[in-house]
Amino acid sequence: MNDQFTRDLANEVGRIASVETLNMKFAEYFIRTIDGKDYVLGKNKKKGVFCEFNEYKLLFSLFSLVKSPLPRYFDNKYLINVVPIEAILQFCTEYGLPYEDKNLWEEHRYAGFEVGHFRYRIAVLYSFFLLWKAFYENDEASINLNMLLVGLKPADYSDHKQKRAHIKEWLARYVTTFGNHFSFEVDYNAVKDGFFLKLRTRNIFDTCYYQFATLLTNEDVLFKGNLKSCKACNAFFWGHGNKRYCEKCNRKTVWSRNHKNKKGELFPEKYLPPVSL
Ligand SMILES: [Zn+2]
Repeated sequence: MNDQFTRDLANEVGRIASVETLNMKFAEYFIRTIDGKDYVLGKNKKKGVFCEFNEYKLLFSLFSLVKSPLPRYFDNKYLINVVPIEAILQFCTEYGLPYEDKNLWEEHRYAGFEVGHFRYRIAVLYSFFLLWKAFYENDEASINLNMLLVGLKPADYSDHKQKRAHIKEWLARYVTTFGNHFSFEVDYNAVKDGFFLKLRTRNIFDTCYYQFATLLTNEDVLFKGNLKSCKACNAFFWGHGNKRYCEKCNRKTVWSRNHKNKKGELFPEKYLPPVSL
């Protein structure tokens, strides 16, 4: 196997100009129990449109649904509090259904997905992401912990080099299993006078898979700085030095939210602590 872990996907498949996915948005989302299982269903479909998702915002929004450390096993009963239903509904309101359960539509004519299955899928993708992150940061304790979550036993390897090689292979194998969830179209851009690849996915969750695949294969991301998780909202972001909050809730916003005066007004700007970016 090639000793180089990351490869630039753009060099392999050409230039990807945009990612489009069918957006399954509804006016309302609600929970219904069918045959003993909980489903999130959409009510009053809005027009289905292809939306563009660039960068990693979508993937990191999905991961921010995980509110506490992953359990050893991903059964729904262990994940109920880890991926709370309120957060799932909020995600749907923002992005639409992550995917649709085909059987549910065929048997009951409902558009939606099973909550336990969605939790399981998030947990699996997130565990591989954490393993990749630990590997990339050379964090041995975290590598060992996350190996267990993806079904590898740290004790099985006598030597460090062999362990790292197998992790790479395991991540690559995982990523290639969802390679057929995308399709590419060639697009011509008259302004730039060039051909570009446009990627299409069937649903939001497949776009997350794609984004994870590019994290593993895109060398650029390794030079963006440290991948951190926001102290306020838990979302991942790239930041240098002692930056603790994502762009959405930087320190000033958090501070001012926590320090509203009795009249409900914010302190004047000059009393706010300096923002470190
Ligand atoms: Zn944040």
